[in-house]
Amino acid sequence: MTISQQQLQFDRNHIWHPYTNLNKPTPVFGVESAQGVYLTLSNGKKVIDGMASWWSAIHGYNHPELNQAIHEQIQQMSHVMFGGLTHQPAIELSRQLIDLTAPELDCVFLADSGSVAVEVGLKMALQYWYSLGRQQKSKFLTIRNGYHGDTLGAMSVCDPETGMHSMFSETLPQHLFVPSPSCVSDEDWNESHIAEFRQMLESRADEIAAVILEPIVQGTGGMRIYCPEFLRQVKSLCEQHDVLLILDEIATGFGRTGTMFAYEQAQICPDILCIGKAITGGYLSLAATITTRNVADVIGSYGDGNLMHGPTFMANPLACAVANRNIELLLASPWQQKIKQIEAQLIAELASCRQLESVADVRVKGAIGAVELKSPVDMHKVQPRFVELGVWIRPFGKLLYIMPPYIIEPDQLSCLTKAIEQVAREQIKP
Ligand code: PMP
Repeated sequence: MTISQQQLQFDRNHIWHPYTNLNKPTPVFGVESAQGVYLTLSNGKKVIDGMASWWSAIHGYNHPELNQAIHEQIQQMSHVMFGGLTHQPAIELSRQLIDLTAPELDCVFLADSGSVAVEVGLKMALQYWYSLGRQQKSKFLTIRNGYHGDTLGAMSVCDPETGMHSMFSETLPQHLFVPSPSCVSDEDWNESHIAEFRQMLESRADEIAAVILEPIVQGTGGMRIYCPEFLRQVKSLCEQHDVLLILDEIATGFGRTGTMFAYEQAQICPDILCIGKAITGGYLSLAATITTRNVADVIGSYGDGNLMHGPTFMANPLACAVANRNIELLLASPWQQKIKQIEAQLIAELASCRQLESVADVRVKGAIGAVELKSPVDMHKVQPRFVELGVWIRPFGKLLYIMPPYIIEPDQLSCLTKAIEQVAREQIKP
């Protein structure tokens, strides 16, 4: 059924969308259906999706095998509580996740959203040190421009100044921040890129429970890319100074940066890994926090050893079933080759944006392309303009960025890059 003008008006007046103001609503488009890389909007327009519904719909929409996985599971059960009960989809998914991640990662907590997976990761780190009688290790160290979710704990480790939660910086628990690395390639590495981080970690290791980072690509905080050597150095410092390492791969996981997980590019392994988004191919809300056996053992060794977290929809069977099929599909596809092709095309086609007066920088990593403008765009104008150009691209501040479904064809990808160039060109002040 088509969304009517009246319904759109109701939406504008009553429904919050992500990061919006009900008093000054930005345009929302009704969407009627989604197929492959296309979204069909209520205004009749069919647009190419550049966002993969925020990193998640890696195989595109309405995929027959993913649909089938849900249909099959719904005949068995759509949901049961996970307290005291278990089921095949959750066991199978946990087995797949343990196989897919580094050998050291061995214990799985199935959460219901990325932010919750981060909350659980932070809580695990606190409980780890509590269990060892070192409660003073209760701070988190991270880098600026980071983003880890919208819940209170996750917000407290997002960039407190430039981040979207800066309004709450004073009221949130206070953690430690150092500048994000500016070194993009290992060839340009030198000690100065880790100096502030090292200084902070070495001087305050007694208070620090864990370092938390988005590896290689900082997403929502600015689509910034940094080199693997920074991660290697961080891992080594964490080991030397008894600090846990939490990696947030909620955006970067499942192949997006060219390797299954971005940490593989630094040949390191975190103590705690948070994943989400693409885990179900964009079908249902699910995320996971995966830890080493050591983390689980230490947490389990003190008091009754329980990890006190248990969301109602933990390990939802429908979500686990579709995640299982999604991972199988990914592994059976030539995804590495596909990401390399997307990356090469993004580098080639976005290069021309560099020459534009309105553009500050162009960044590409794997199947992620970002054009940073010199000034923020006006969403009221730019969002409809992208739709007019036949693409679904949602800008953020100064960023025009895409992370398309992996199944995108070269000509469809070209439509996205051309639209970005066109919009960047239109931002040039007369
Ligand atoms: N961490 C990162 C790196 C993310 O990109 C996001 C989502 N944008 C989150 C955490 C939070 O995930 P969710 O929106 O599923 O709560």
